[in-house]
Amino acid sequence: MKHKRDYYEVLGVSREASDQEIKSAYRRLAMQHHPDRNPESKDESEEKFKELTEAYSVLADAQKRAAYDRFGHAGVGGAGGAPDFNASIFSDFEDIFGDLFGFGDVFGRTGRARTRNTGAVDLRYDLEINLEEAASGLETKIKIPRWEPCSTCDGTGAKPGSKPMSCGTCAGRGQIRHQQGFFTVTRTCPECQGMGQVIRDACPHCSGEGRMNAERVLGLKIPPGVDDGTRLRVAGEGGVAARGSAPGDLYVIVKIREHPFFERRANDLYYTIPISIAQASLGAEIVIPTLRGEERLRIPEGTQSGSVFRIRGQGMPRLEGRGAGDLFITVFVVTPTRLTRDHRRWLEILAPFVRVDNKPLERRAAEKVKDIFG
Ligand SMILES: [Zn+2]
Ligand SMILES: [Zn+2]
Repeated sequence: MKHKRDYYEVLGVSREASDQEIKSAYRRLAMQHHPDRNPESKDESEEKFKELTEAYSVLADAQKRAAYDRFGHAGVGGAGGAPDFNASIFSDFEDIFGDLFGFGDVFGRTGRARTRNTGAVDLRYDLEINLEEAASGLETKIKIPRWEPCSTCDGTGAKPGSKPMSCGTCAGRGQIRHQQGFFTVTRTCPECQGMGQVIRDACPHCSGEGRMNAERVLGLKIPPGVDDGTRLRVAGEGGVAARGSAPGDLYVIVKIREHPFFERRANDLYYTIPISIAQASLGAEIVIPTLRGEERLRIPEGTQSGSVFRIRGQGMPRLEGRGAGDLFITVFVVTPTRLTRDHRRWLEILAPFVRVDNKPLERRAAEKVKDIFG
């Protein structure tokens, strides 16, 4: 990773600089290094411009600046990480420059930032399912409240029979340009808010907004193997923000209910099952649950408490790729309690045959036991 320069140094101001000084320094340097003004060294000036912008986005924000002053780069956006360039920063820049530069273009984004009024709306839906459903996958229906294009005017906002008119102020371009010094200044048209069209006769259903509130039932297919927190994107099923805009995406966040005994770690499943002292000593075949039904598990004679049995392929299916994880079963030998006099007698007879050396376990063996029970 490249060494990050001090933000004050980047803007060429002192640590005591006022907000106004920071703003002017940024404005001056940003104009000087703007990639559009340096076509012969575009990459370099783009780097420079980003560095400036990052520095400004921190120092212009009192809270972030204080954090930076105390903790340096680590105080803002983590070690070496760039602070997030969020929409509010961009609108702040618009205050400084107007629409002088297309900030979206500089950062490789689409025109969304500039046409904020016509952007798409991404939606989030939390879907809670159980572990069995996560394993098998499922098809379900969900109800999404969202903004959709108005059905009366097809989202145009114009009364049926009429049409949106091309905006006279900007000649339908949505932007107004004029020359200022050696810059061509572009501003969003105030008449049509950048849409290039104006409504003369508003649609009575949506009052010209071009959208309406709807509750949509969507079929949803959850693939086998999803995990808690898996995010599924359903393209184009989000909402619309205003007339003429394309719909955003719907993000379904999967939440998996805790299972009474299966514990999931990645694609493997775990649980603990009790066995009797007789089963552990003599061996036994027991019936155990899996996600797909019951299975038989052979407990060999002389099984110790804490032994782990692995059943391959009985874990969760892999979301990407083939196959499935494994099932790990820990056995736990239950010591009999509430003995009758007869039981006690039998155990006393047995005692000489089951004697063990009561000496401390060597560390490595003890660690193993701790792992199993910890
Ligand atoms: Zn309408
Ligand atoms: Zn206009």
